[in-house]
Amino acid sequence: MRVRLLGLNSRTARTLAALNIPTFVTKCLSLFLCLLLIVPLAAGFKPKWHTLITWEAFDDVNTALKNTGLAFTAEAIEEIIRSNVETDGVNSWGVPNVHFWHAQADSSKHFDDEDFAKSSKGLINLKEAIVVELLGNAPSAGTGTREKLGSALHTIQDFYSHSNRAELDAQKVLVGEQLGETALADPPSGTTCDGDGTKLSGGGLTGLTSGYFKLLTPCKITKDKCRHGAPLLCAGINKDSDSTTKPLLFSHARALARAASVRFVLSILNDPRISGNAKAGKALVSIPPK
Ligand SMILES: [Zn+2]
Repeated sequence: MRVRLLGLNSRTARTLAALNIPTFVTKCLSLFLCLLLIVPLAAGFKPKWHTLITWEAFDDVNTALKNTGLAFTAEAIEEIIRSNVETDGVNSWGVPNVHFWHAQADSSKHFDDEDFAKSSKGLINLKEAIVVELLGNAPSAGTGTREKLGSALHTIQDFYSHSNRAELDAQKVLVGEQLGETALADPPSGTTCDGDGTKLSGGGLTGLTSGYFKLLTPCKITKDKCRHGAPLLCAGINKDSDSTTKPLLFSHARALARAASVRFVLSILNDPRISGNAKAGKALVSIPPK
């Protein structure tokens, strides 16, 4: 059914049948080709942009850490970026892995579907888990904490690509500045976008909202709500890539995501439990030689 959705099934099946390939293999290949088409529709900032934003954020972090004796190494940043991108259930090439369906179905990892309370509480929990793990100095403290940090940064960056936060800047509505510190409330019920889910209206003009996204029916409209949208298929309010029809909003969302990523990383190292503990800080910023 998923394959039929994108019109791949009959064409792909005919081609593979002509090659006399067993049915099971045919189905697997069809599903894989289908996934390759779906993935670009589903991710937040594309892997390329999550990667770039995170590298830029760590440039800023390391500048801020100057004179502290701490600096994130390239290897540590690469580990964090790998985890960031995998939060969408894909690798750095955008190819889905075994976690793809689960990863995409969890709106709280991507601030989709106005899931602000759960998403923001998840960031608070991740930050606390990182601090506790660093203090515990578990054998996995370095890699485990960097994986959590990468996942948290992904969700923070998605906040800006999937919500109307960039648009709200013009109204001086500065919500979400403390991601990882305080929880956001889910928005009140009511209209946030007009009929086709692409134009902010009602509560979406003055308060937070985000696009609704369903993996298998990305163009379906949720009544009175905003649509995430899918490239080449249907418009929405997402700012996932520079191919958007609103390049200025994309650039603004990207800058906000970079600044928020920096704030989150520094909030961990500035936590009173970590800031005076050089061993804990070092476990996060670098990978010890084997
Ligand atoms: Zn995402």
